[in-house]
Amino acid sequence: MTKPIATDGNLFIIAAPSGAGKSSLIRALLERHNDGSMQVSVSCTTRAPRPGEQNGVHYHFLSVDAFQKKIANNEFYEWAQVFDNYYGTSRTVIEQTLAQGIDVFLDIDWQGARQVREAYSACQSVFIVPPSLDALEQRLRNRNQDSDDVIRGRMAKAQGEMSHYHEFDYLLVNDDFDTTLLNLEHIVLARRHRMALQQTRHAATLKDLLANAR
Ligand code: GDP
Ligand code: ADP
Ligand code: 5GP
Repeated sequence: MTKPIATDGNLFIIAAPSGAGKSSLIRALLERHNDGSMQVSVSCTTRAPRPGEQNGVHYHFLSVDAFQKKIANNEFYEWAQVFDNYYGTSRTVIEQTLAQGIDVFLDIDWQGARQVREAYSACQSVFIVPPSLDALEQRLRNRNQDSDDVIRGRMAKAQGEMSHYHEFDYLLVNDDFDTTLLNLEHIVLARRHRMALQQTRHAATLKDLLANAR
């Protein structure tokens, strides 16, 4: 999958250090656009489910064995090891969803983002940072989902993830949530109105507009 056609959906990569707010922002954006025009990709992972996480909804939870079989069968669009677990994006779901003209969000790390850019240069990538390291730690604690050990590990890796911010097309500082959501929405909507897409979508209108002068 390298060459998008004008009617394909748009592919957006959203990356951030754990706890910066990417899942909440994607969820809120999907709630505002619940017309079937956008979807978030459900990744596969070998991480254990958090309380309340449902298989097939938040992730497809797999054993290491099952994950490695999928790697061997080339079933992943991209995959990476993050925090000692495997994470990966299924190839067929992404390809089929984009082919239906639906926009797709990938909530993936910087290693996966690199692989997706190589495979699909038309993708747009957004990096989200917290306003400070203190705020990041506070968010991880407020989320109330991970043990102290896990939080320490994620804080230790946050700067490693953030050091790749400049590889992305857009940067959002998630201080006030609603402002960040609006800015993310602007990025997505601008992409939807790019010339190649609009020319196809509004071909009949453009033809009429340019036909007979009055
Ligand atoms: P959270 O980000 O704190 O909610 O923790 P998760 O365990 O859900 O995700 C950990 C990291 O793995 C985050 O940086 C995610 O963006 C990343 N991740 C999740 N799914 C994928 C995937 O399919 N591929 C890659 N490359 N990274 C993923
Ligand atoms: P990620 O998916 O990047 O790991 P989450 O979306 O799970 O992050 O957000 C981590 C926590 O921070 C959640 O409890 C979420 O409600 C909270 N949060 C997200 N954005 C903000 C913000 N702008 N201000 C305060 N808290 C936030
Ligand atoms: P508008 O032209 O008013 O911006 O878009 C009308 C509707 O078409 C939007 O609400 C959205 O549902 C859908 N839409 C517009 N552009 C795109 C696009 O690029 N991809 C997808 N999946 N849906 C779009």
